[in-house]
Amino acid sequence: MKTYRYTLQPYKGRHTRYTCPQCGTKQSFVRYIDTCTGQHLGTDIGRCNREQQCGYHQKPDYTEVKSQNSKVKMVYTQPLSHHRIGTLSHTTQLAAIHQQSLCCYNNNHLVQYLLHTYGFAAVERAIDDYRIGTHDNDTIFWQIDATNRIRAGKVMAYDKHTGKRKKDGTPAVRWVHSLHKLQGYELRQCLFGEHLLATDTRPVAIAESEKTALIAGIHLPQYLWLATGGAHNLHADKCGVLRGRRVVLFPDAGAYDKWLAIAQHIPNCTVSKVLCGYNDGSDVADWL
Ligand SMILES: [Zn+2]
Repeated sequence: MKTYRYTLQPYKGRHTRYTCPQCGTKQSFVRYIDTCTGQHLGTDIGRCNREQQCGYHQKPDYTEVKSQNSKVKMVYTQPLSHHRIGTLSHTTQLAAIHQQSLCCYNNNHLVQYLLHTYGFAAVERAIDDYRIGTHDNDTIFWQIDATNRIRAGKVMAYDKHTGKRKKDGTPAVRWVHSLHKLQGYELRQCLFGEHLLATDTRPVAIAESEKTALIAGIHLPQYLWLATGGAHNLHADKCGVLRGRRVVLFPDAGAYDKWLAIAQHIPNCTVSKVLCGYNDGSDVADWL
C-alpha cells in the first residue's frame, strides 16, 4: 500500500465533514490531514463532495503547508519509499515508519487477542487513539509526545491466544529506531498515550505497561489511560505534561511504594491500592 503524507480525511461520521468554502454546503467538504501528525491542514484545503455542482478541490502544496507549520520544510506528495526515508531526518524517518506501521492488524497477535476478547468497536478505537502499529506479528507501541512528535516505537511480541508476552527467546523489547538502524538516534522516552492529553480532558490514569493501558481504557473509560512503559520509567520530570490534571497511578503489584514516593512530586496525584494485595507481579489488566 502506498502511503502519502497528506491524505483526505477518511469518513468517520458527520463530524469529519465540513462546510465547503466555495459553495457553502454543510458537511460536503473533505479536508486533508497530515498523516504524520493526524492534524488537519488549512480549512480551505480539501475537496467538495459535490463534484458536479461545485467541483472545489484545493490540494496541499508546498507554500500552503509551509505557512500552516513553519517546521515542515518538505512536502511529500510522493509515496514515502524506503529509499527516500533514508535521506530524511530521524524525526521525519520515524514519522514515516510510524505511518507505514498503522496496518496489518490481521498479523498483529496482540490485536488479534484483543479483538477476540473485547470486540471490534472497542479495539478499533484503542488502535486509532493510541496509533498502534504492527511489526511482523508483533505490536509497536509508539511514544508520541504532547507536541505530537514521534519519540520512539517500542516493539513487543505477544501470544495470539493468551495475549501474554512471548517467552520464545524474542527480546522482550525492541526499538524501531534500532530495527531501522537510525544511526545515532537519541532515545528520549515519553509517556505512552501522551499525545492524547491535548484533546482529552478526562482524569489521567497511569499504568506500567502499554497493554494494561489499552485494556484498562476499555474497562475504565472514566480515565484517560497512559503507560510509563516499565516500573522504573516513572519519573517526576517526565510528568510535567500532567500539570493541571487529576492523576491516579495504578502501579503493578510490588511497585506501590516506589510509585507512592514519586507521586509526592506530582501535583494532584493519588495512587490506587487496587493491587496492594497482590505480590505476584500481576498488573491491573489481570485484575480487571
Ligand atoms: Zn462545494
